[in-house]
Amino acid sequence: MIFSSFRKFFWLWRRATCRTVILSDRSEPERQSVGSRRICGCSFGNPTRLLTFFAVLFAPLAAPAQAHFDGARAYEYARQFAAIGPRWPTGPGHIKAQEFLRTHFAHDQLEQDTFTADTPIGPVPLCNFIVRFPGRKAGAVVLGSHYETNYPLRNINFVGANDGAATTGLLMAIADRLRAEAAQSRDKKLDGYSVWLVFFDGEEAIQSWSRSDSTYGSRHLAAKWGRDGTLNQIKAFLLADMIGDKDLDIQRETNSTAWLVDLVAQAAKKFGDQRYFFQQEMSVEDDHLPFVERGVPSIDVIDLDYGPNNSYHHTAQDTMDKISAHSLTIDGDVFMESIRLIDQR
Ligand SMILES: [Zn+2]
Repeated sequence: MIFSSFRKFFWLWRRATCRTVILSDRSEPERQSVGSRRICGCSFGNPTRLLTFFAVLFAPLAAPAQAHFDGARAYEYARQFAAIGPRWPTGPGHIKAQEFLRTHFAHDQLEQDTFTADTPIGPVPLCNFIVRFPGRKAGAVVLGSHYETNYPLRNINFVGANDGAATTGLLMAIADRLRAEAAQSRDKKLDGYSVWLVFFDGEEAIQSWSRSDSTYGSRHLAAKWGRDGTLNQIKAFLLADMIGDKDLDIQRETNSTAWLVDLVAQAAKKFGDQRYFFQQEMSVEDDHLPFVERGVPSIDVIDLDYGPNNSYHHTAQDTMDKISAHSLTIDGDVFMESIRLIDQR
């Protein structure tokens, strides 16, 4: 391999710089007719060939093969987040989780959206976190996930490795990518739309799931952004939920916006990951609904099939060994590519 590369290099070098090599490609009469120019000067006499030489030589540097998303990084963030322990509203882990996010995003454009939710156990203080990465195009792509765990599961050491922690880690690793991309640009902005990451609080039911006892954070934020006009800026909202599962099979969620589902499928196809996406159809109530209802193009990227007969879902078995860096790599690849495709629309 090294040998053949070296030979190719040498051949290109000679082709670009030595007239004799060029001449050797020609027929004998031709060579004779230009005999006086057969002397190899190893000069850079032919600008076109020289340019070709450097173009071929440095092509891998100019257009590197697209690197995969760093799912191991997302997994490590998820591990740290799950290690906080149960994060049910009003509990000590909930406060620690908020401190974790506040500290992690201290040097980013972080907004804390605190409010009091009216719940079956009375008023509960909740907080959504919004991290903004400004872009050059007017408008924003929003990626969301919830970070808290279930209040009714507060006594079973439910850490929600897949249900909350995995997608929190995913968004944190996506933030790393966006931060690096912005840092490299002259004006510290992303190429396309702004990207806002939203860490929702209060997705889970406090008592039992209903439209009024669930999705407290997203209902609050969608209503607030509806009132102040922010929703008009949102080109697309992609929600990530339970997609750290080792056995990844993301359903086609039927409340989601059709063109956005197609776009995510297209993004998955780019990486040859289509087998993990949309093999089954399902309707899911989740944090995307308050946005869908207000006309924001939205998708719930969710794998609601977790463990044998869904036995890890909302149980103490939802632990880090059930999720994988590989699944988070697939998610990250597809989310980053989806942002790119939305930018191009
Ligand atoms: Zn859940």
